[in-house]
Amino acid sequence: MDTNRRNFLKVAGISTLAGLGGTAVVDRLVAGSSVAHASTAAGEGAGHAEAAKGHGPVSDPSVNRYGMVIDVKKFQQDPSLGEKAVKACHQVHNVPQFPDKKDEIKWIWMTNFENAFPENPNLYQDEATESHQLPIMCNHCDSPPCVRACPTKATFRNKDGVVIMDFHRCIGCRFCMAACPYGSRSFNWRDPRPFVVNQNNNFPTRTRGVVEKCNFCAERIGIGQQPACVEACGESKAMVFGNLNDPNSEIRKILKENHTLQRNPSLGTLPSVFYIV
Ligand code: SF4
Repeated sequence: MDTNRRNFLKVAGISTLAGLGGTAVVDRLVAGSSVAHASTAAGEGAGHAEAAKGHGPVSDPSVNRYGMVIDVKKFQQDPSLGEKAVKACHQVHNVPQFPDKKDEIKWIWMTNFENAFPENPNLYQDEATESHQLPIMCNHCDSPPCVRACPTKATFRNKDGVVIMDFHRCIGCRFCMAACPYGSRSFNWRDPRPFVVNQNNNFPTRTRGVVEKCNFCAERIGIGQQPACVEACGESKAMVFGNLNDPNSEIRKILKENHTLQRNPSLGTLPSVFYIV
């Protein structure tokens, strides 16, 4: 048994693999690791201990649990905000701009109300809600199925409750994509590097065979900055980011004063992204 295979078995656990079809799956996954050599995002090293706890809420008020409130009406009033937020995120994170839609990599994108909130159908929806676009992304769920599905712990929750990825560990199995009920993850079917426009050298690029998604700008939070999308919305307050475990934070004040929706709450994933609609 080679070292790769032995290490993989140690991480994944025999019981999981038995349920997935035995040694054939191991062979496929280990073989897949040969194309997964992306760099690790700055600040994403911490928190592997938290990975094992990817099963429930961070309830300790002495630790951070970051979340976001998105005010849909503000995106209706100023449709340029959506474009600004997407552009800022994708530029900062070296998200490739593939010419073919089928290869598209998305960290944050705009969609309509029905796609975002399929559990809130309303035959008599007002025209503005029905026709306008709102941003969606990874929800940084408090009970994230993607973390449980990842056999190599490439996806984990960090100490602030942010669900992030160690790209080095991703073996491209895409179990996380199957587990995420929000379609928040993208897979690099092609080498993304030639398609990165104005590369940001402070953030790693990825390679073919690696999954990626929004990381709540963990690398920026770590140095006291706001997420790029929040910053791009400026003073509009269309997006507000903060610590949900701090009762005096701005985000908690907004949540207290406004009725908000989370996406697909019946799934029990406990999203950390809230929408004022
Ligand atoms: Fe994981 Fe999807 Fe939840 Fe993000 S939205 S934490 S990718 S399950």
